[in-house]
Amino acid sequence: MRSGFVSFVGRPNVGKSTLLNTIIGKKIVITSSKSNTTRHNIQGIYNDEDSQIVFVDTPGIHKPKEKMGKYLNQKAYYTIDDVDIVCLLVDASQAIGSGDKYLIDRLKKEEKPVLLIINKIDLIAKDELIKKISQYKDMMDFTEIIPVSALTKDNIKRMLNIIKHFLPDQIRYYEDDTKTNQTDAFMIGEIVREKVMRLTHDEVPYAVTTVIEKYNDKKDLLELGVVIIVDRDNLKGIILGKSGAKIKDIGIQARNDIEEYFGKKVYLELFVKVIKNWRDKEKYLEEFGLKKLD
Ligand code: GDP
Ligand code: MG
Repeated sequence: MRSGFVSFVGRPNVGKSTLLNTIIGKKIVITSSKSNTTRHNIQGIYNDEDSQIVFVDTPGIHKPKEKMGKYLNQKAYYTIDDVDIVCLLVDASQAIGSGDKYLIDRLKKEEKPVLLIINKIDLIAKDELIKKISQYKDMMDFTEIIPVSALTKDNIKRMLNIIKHFLPDQIRYYEDDTKTNQTDAFMIGEIVREKVMRLTHDEVPYAVTTVIEKYNDKKDLLELGVVIIVDRDNLKGIILGKSGAKIKDIGIQARNDIEEYFGKKVYLELFVKVIKNWRDKEKYLEEFGLKKLD
């Protein structure tokens, strides 16, 4: 059995979310022709007899023009650092632009496999596709180049087989029937993480993890304790802020969003924990239900 984490990155609208839905065989992510529909990194879990692949859908990466764009880019970059295989998605029907070059430059530094997925091949002729492939080949030495159509499902099986080849792990992260990771607890953690990132801007690298330590669902009140994990002491200081002002803001904003999501009153306590060693972090996360079957 092989398993691993794979992220989809690419400019907005290239079809990342559509491809994820096609692979999972069920609509678990919203898609639209508008840019930046995907605001969170959403996981879709693909299972078959001999593999489990966790796909991470990211907000599109593009040259940031405004703050939100920058924020979304950072979310996507966070994901690149956190997976085993990176799939760069491009749109076959679009000319290669400065946005693609910007991304490819970033990915050239990656040591992990970087697969180029050329999507929307249903929109172009074969000779055009051949030209496209050679243009991309000139730009970077991709691990593999795979043309697909998320819409017509063309070549998706082959893409999965290639990805399977690079999977590094041998554990099932999720039960076989799980299709997405989007539980209520996940949502709460994501909201807190979002507030940390927004309110600390560039000061905190995007490797912030959140863990729900307390979850008491009472009739009229949701009691929550959330731990924000960072790997350096100075990051803890930044998140706490002067006399705890920053963490207070993070808490207020997160609580508002969580109340809106659940439609009920929320009592939210936040803690910041520094865990320097990633093995200690894994151990700590395991205590909170990161399942390791096998
Ligand atoms: P994202 O921003 O990268 O997540 O892109 P979406 O998945 O939201 O898709 C953007 C648009 O492209 C939507 O209108 C999709 O229907 C369309 N799209 C996605 N994949 C394909 C494809 O393979 N072929 C065609 N023709 N359209 C596609
Ligand atoms: Mg999307």
